[in-house]
Amino acid sequence: MSAVRRSVSVLGSTGSIGVNTLDVLRQHPQAYNVYALAAHSSVAALAQQCLEFQPQFAVMVDDDAAAALERQLHGSCDTRVLGGPAALEEIASADGVDVVMAAIVGAAGLPSTLAAAQAGKTILLANKESLVMGGHLLMAAVRACGATLLPIDSEHNAIFQCMPVDAGGVPSKKGISKVLLTASGGPFRTWTTQQMQQATPDQACAHPNWSMGRKISVDSASLMNKGLELIEACWIFDLQAQDVEVVVHPQSIIHSMVQYVDGSVLAQLGNPDMRTPIAYGLGWPARLASGVAPLDLVATAQLNFEEPDEARFPCLRLARESVEAGGTAMAVCNAANEVAVAAFLDGAIRFTDLPVVIERTLERVTVAEPTDLVVVELADKQARATAAAILAELGGITHNAQQH
Ligand code: NAD
Ligand code: MG
Repeated sequence: MSAVRRSVSVLGSTGSIGVNTLDVLRQHPQAYNVYALAAHSSVAALAQQCLEFQPQFAVMVDDDAAAALERQLHGSCDTRVLGGPAALEEIASADGVDVVMAAIVGAAGLPSTLAAAQAGKTILLANKESLVMGGHLLMAAVRACGATLLPIDSEHNAIFQCMPVDAGGVPSKKGISKVLLTASGGPFRTWTTQQMQQATPDQACAHPNWSMGRKISVDSASLMNKGLELIEACWIFDLQAQDVEVVVHPQSIIHSMVQYVDGSVLAQLGNPDMRTPIAYGLGWPARLASGVAPLDLVATAQLNFEEPDEARFPCLRLARESVEAGGTAMAVCNAANEVAVAAFLDGAIRFTDLPVVIERTLERVTVAEPTDLVVVELADKQARATAAAILAELGGITHNAQQH
């Protein structure tokens, strides 16, 4: 065990990845201390975490929630409460921080992830949207500022484990012919398009293998999650879209594979529990116990594979077309998806409208060169406004359709 404890900031600590991260940290108090915790507005959950982990800072992005947290913690722990989104960047880049777990959901995670990269931190990246949206900027900052990017998304973590990696954590493509990105297929893998038209948010969030936040659960059901992951893989491993093949593997036991020129295929296997990739990222290059049960292959019995069906799941094609279009197209795709998923979760559109909103947004927003954060944020904003206008148009269509 190292004599000096590493300091960790957990951004998005009240979410699914955040809670799993704290569970791994709880098992290794001699190796890590929690420097800061951050969430959007869940006061009770963050208060509880502060009492247990005694961080130096707690951030609530919502100012009213920050005031409420401050009142709740007053007199019971020394944690300083900060409010507002800029505080996320402070706790991601502060001198006292070694490791940043980027586990905020959506584009809201980009500025803090970028701040961690610019400060040369070790970044455990769960927030795939920040890479999809600002991959050019983030990867350039990682390289220029000597940051270490360790992928936490289970597929990318598996690929990282199966690839040659140098001492600084930079993966090498030497001898690799293809990356095989596995997908569970989600809860609607065997559903027809007609059945998916009637799908409710709760059905979309009932993932067969993983327990996750609602946004990523809907993405998994539409296969947009695999599309975002395809983009994520291109950035992290410096690949082209055609180097990545999506393979549906319903059991989620193999978390992805790397195929080499000599015919070898290396795979990483494990139970579908995010504490494995989280522990890998925290301990890298050493291994840490995670609390995950050992894999029982005999009980699993079968590992099956299928081709993805892009006719029923057009989001995968839309994501691939965005990587191929390059520039800010990926930011536009991501923003349109975030708007569409929120509308679906609110009951405003049907599940099958998700790709419609994204495709029309991609058609209408002009792609630019993502030279800096301002350009990327502008593309994100334009895409959100366009997607909102498309939602209004679809509302009309749905309403008219219902009258017949
Ligand atoms: P979640 O919805 O469970 O949690 C999201 C966290 O982000 C919460 O703590 C919330 O308070 C915080 N948050 C939300 N909006 C915010 C904002 N505007 N500013 C600051 N904080 C905000 O989500 P999750 O399932 O834990 O996923 C988090 C990220 O990890 C996503 O990008 C997701 O794609 C990725 N991921 C998740 C899993 C998983 O198993 N859950 C697996 C792979 C990747
Ligand atoms: Mg994943």
